[in-house]
Amino acid sequence: MTKALPSFRYRLEQKEPRLGPGGITRGASVHDFPASIGIAGVSMRLQPGAMREMHWHANAAEWAYVISGSCRTTVLHPDGGSATNDFYAGDVWYFPRGWGHAIQATGTGECHFILIFDNGDFSEDHTFSVTDWMSRTPPTILAQSLGLSLEEVARLPKGEVYFAQGTPATDQSPLSTPHEAPALSAMHRYPLSAQEPRRVPGGGLQRTVTAREFPISQTMAGSLLEIEPGGLRELHWHPAADEWQYYIEGSAEMSVFLAEGSVVTEQFEAGDVGYAPMGSGHYIKNTGAGVLKVLIGFNHPHYQSNELSAWLASNPDDILRANLGQPQEVVAKLPKESHFFLRGKA
Ligand code: MN
Ligand code: MN
Repeated sequence: MTKALPSFRYRLEQKEPRLGPGGITRGASVHDFPASIGIAGVSMRLQPGAMREMHWHANAAEWAYVISGSCRTTVLHPDGGSATNDFYAGDVWYFPRGWGHAIQATGTGECHFILIFDNGDFSEDHTFSVTDWMSRTPPTILAQSLGLSLEEVARLPKGEVYFAQGTPATDQSPLSTPHEAPALSAMHRYPLSAQEPRRVPGGGLQRTVTAREFPISQTMAGSLLEIEPGGLRELHWHPAADEWQYYIEGSAEMSVFLAEGSVVTEQFEAGDVGYAPMGSGHYIKNTGAGVLKVLIGFNHPHYQSNELSAWLASNPDDILRANLGQPQEVVAKLPKESHFFLRGKA
């Protein structure tokens, strides 16, 4: 008897988007993508000057990676501080659960970023926007709270703004907060693409950011994989994290092993999302002619993985001979070290 197996692929960029002034967003929670029980994600695009309004998330932290363009975030710290940071392609941000934040595109082109939330049940009903709140608050309370007259309060937004079109902030903008001294990283910003990667020539490279490099990121970690044509991110699993994938570039085969004889193998293209549940075995193979680029988010602050090659390499030959029923000449060919990535056959 075979049980019905879930799909571990969601075609995020083919979803009908939510649109607003200067903004486009597509989200996938467990309600859209049933396999993704532990992590949800969003692909958002802002035109220059457009902003995702001031808001917070009651049930998830927000980890983001900027694919293209640039943006500025502001975030309120519950201990009384605040931060304004500028982000460029290849940068990561992290906002702890419940911290208020806003995002505005800067520069002259669209800013595209991927948001990853450490809760598959993340949804808009757990997202609190400042205009939604203000517009449902009695005008007298709002006037007292904001120091405005009732006439001025009456001209405030009548409902949730969500996206707002503004003027692109620049370093010279008199309205922008003082620009931070150039720093490799800041409290909420980690320049992932500037990191020296783990590299397997001909196979691929991996950049990873965890709470070790990026201390504020206490609940999440992320990786950026670039796999050469024919290359393979080998069979492995993560003992303590779900894995949420966004395929940035290229084509792939990704397979999830669920025990009891169950394996789900699917094909992925740019714009697709993949998911490997905590503890499930999986691999990613580049099936295209170019480099495969995959963004990965984990709902754990540290990166841990078990590679099949490392496990085989760590076992005495007689264990492998008995387990696999193979003679020594075959066992002698098995991996003698951890590979992580493997080259493709030319
Ligand atoms: Mn947010
Ligand atoms: Mn993995």
